[in-house]
Amino acid sequence: MQYISTRGAAPALDFEAAMMTGLARDGGLYVPAEVPQMSRAEIAALASLSYEEAAFRVMRPFIGGTFTDAEFGDLIEKAYANFGHAARAPLKQLAPNHFLLELFHGPTLAFKDFAMQLIGQMFQAALSRSGDRVTIVGATSGDTGSAAIEAFKGLENVDVFILFPHGRVSEVQRRQMTTPTEGNVHAIALDGDFDACQGKLKDMFNHFDFRDEVGLAGVNSINWARVLAQVVYYFTSAVALGAPHREVSFTVPTGNFGDIFAGYIAKRMGLPIGDLIVATNQNDILHRTLTSGAYTKGTVEPSISPSMDIQVSSNFERALFDAYGRDGTVVAGQMDELKASGGFTISQGAIDALRDTYLSGRASEDETRAAIASELKASGELLCPHSAVGVHVARQHLGATPMVTLATAHPAKFPDAVEQASGIRPPLPTRMARLYDLPERVTRLPDDLDALETFIRDNRA
Ligand SMILES: *Cc1c(COP(=O)(O)O)cnc(C)c1O
Repeated sequence: MQYISTRGAAPALDFEAAMMTGLARDGGLYVPAEVPQMSRAEIAALASLSYEEAAFRVMRPFIGGTFTDAEFGDLIEKAYANFGHAARAPLKQLAPNHFLLELFHGPTLAFKDFAMQLIGQMFQAALSRSGDRVTIVGATSGDTGSAAIEAFKGLENVDVFILFPHGRVSEVQRRQMTTPTEGNVHAIALDGDFDACQGKLKDMFNHFDFRDEVGLAGVNSINWARVLAQVVYYFTSAVALGAPHREVSFTVPTGNFGDIFAGYIAKRMGLPIGDLIVATNQNDILHRTLTSGAYTKGTVEPSISPSMDIQVSSNFERALFDAYGRDGTVVAGQMDELKASGGFTISQGAIDALRDTYLSGRASEDETRAAIASELKASGELLCPHSAVGVHVARQHLGATPMVTLATAHPAKFPDAVEQASGIRPPLPTRMARLYDLPERVTRLPDDLDALETFIRDNRA
């Protein structure tokens, strides 16, 4: 299995190299050269399996010779062993034909754990085999960083530096990043918003001397291995609701487009997905783009669903690549235009292709709070604000096809917003009740490439 860049000018890599690299050297993102297919019989057979067994079957064709079957099965087992729910990704029913896929039972209470726990295991296995050492730098709007620190803390051969926007993550998110004591993990509060963090990360990857000097590796949602891990729960949930014998639709609270793109991959593999709906908060660049055909960067307006506060949606480039018939030169041109002028216009053919695959909707702050309150009343379910954005949008698309809304975080990760909307302050699960008592360790840095690179050089092992 080979991986190619969305900008068409970087070498094709195998799974291991694509995972270790993250961003391609031409600035593009790696995608599989071909998407493996699962037959109806193979999909139907998932129904009787554990989450881990289903994960093995869905992901195996993508990893080529990187791990043996026995190794890969073992890594998957370890990745999900410390989740707080035996089903890993349980489904709950909200209303007739509306279901909630709870993706928040991992160690940091957000769906990011599904990918990050597995990627931690896979990095460790690959690095201990090669003897290499890497420096992982990640940018986070809150959940990726905590999931990465949790997954990589204490691992040999890896230093981890996480950039988060100072003052713009929730207290639980911040504490999950700043309280681990392992010396190989470092939380950096950057003076800027999430797009600034992500921009600095891209600058570091494009600074090849630095990249090679420290052995830079990326685990942001642009990393193909993360997208892959997220493909699994589309299969397990759809099969639980009757796929492949009937279609299932999904609504996905979206920021960087990684999670919903995983749904698209599931569909390409043969899973009968009906609608695939992008749900955004007031930072609605994706909804506007799908509506108007113009991708125009605005400024981030902080919201109560901070993990979706984004104006540059990195994984959207993967969707564009397919929409443009996999023409990397066109994608590279549009991305240059984005960098130079803050936007680009998608061709008619490409926007038609995108609209064939993705529907979209947005929820304002008031609509998000109202969805938290009304869902509590209707089904007793207390939603986090991100999941509430999804539920608000999904409700506009309910019909004969079962709808699954992805619940991307636990309400206790955002207790202030949830309490304000519902009157209920959700408690942390008991396994993490000490979080508020532990001392924090964090470095505040300006939005400046030199300062960041110096800090990283000086603090690697
Ligand atoms: C990361 C995140 C999202 C957005 O997911 P993308 O893959 O970036 O689109 C939504 N909700 C929560 C809670 C998140 O942590």
